[in-house]
Amino acid sequence: MQNFKAAMFKDSSRAVTAVKLLNMDKPSDVMYLGRIVEEAETKALFANPRHPYTHALLASVLTPEPQMGLPETHLGIAYPNPIDPPSGCTFNPRCPHVTDVCKQTRPETRIEAGHLVECHHPQ
Ligand code: SF4
Repeated sequence: MQNFKAAMFKDSSRAVTAVKLLNMDKPSDVMYLGRIVEEAETKALFANPRHPYTHALLASVLTPEPQMGLPETHLGIAYPNPIDPPSGCTFNPRCPHVTDVCKQTRPETRIEAGHLVECHHPQ
């Protein structure tokens, strides 16, 4: 529990540092295999990520303490070939939320309150 609290504090510090480096008034894009899979105002993207890949990116921030190990991103280890991408959602071999529809049909782009996400099951 102590380590978890320390990690949360340090994650918060890093997030604040990262946010300070970005222009909060501009949108940020998250790309996977050459496609924008999520776009939102930077503050909204950090506060409410919707795409599983964005969740994994934010979870993958390294900690400065080696004893804490590598962050768990819950991603699969099957790396798709960009020349011959998977059918449906190209993120499906690595996604922890994949379903049959993800493997068969490319998700439509959803836009809600200026927040764009390309996913059948946004988080
Ligand atoms: S469409 Fe399915 S496989 Fe693709 S990111 Fe969303 S949940 Fe994951």
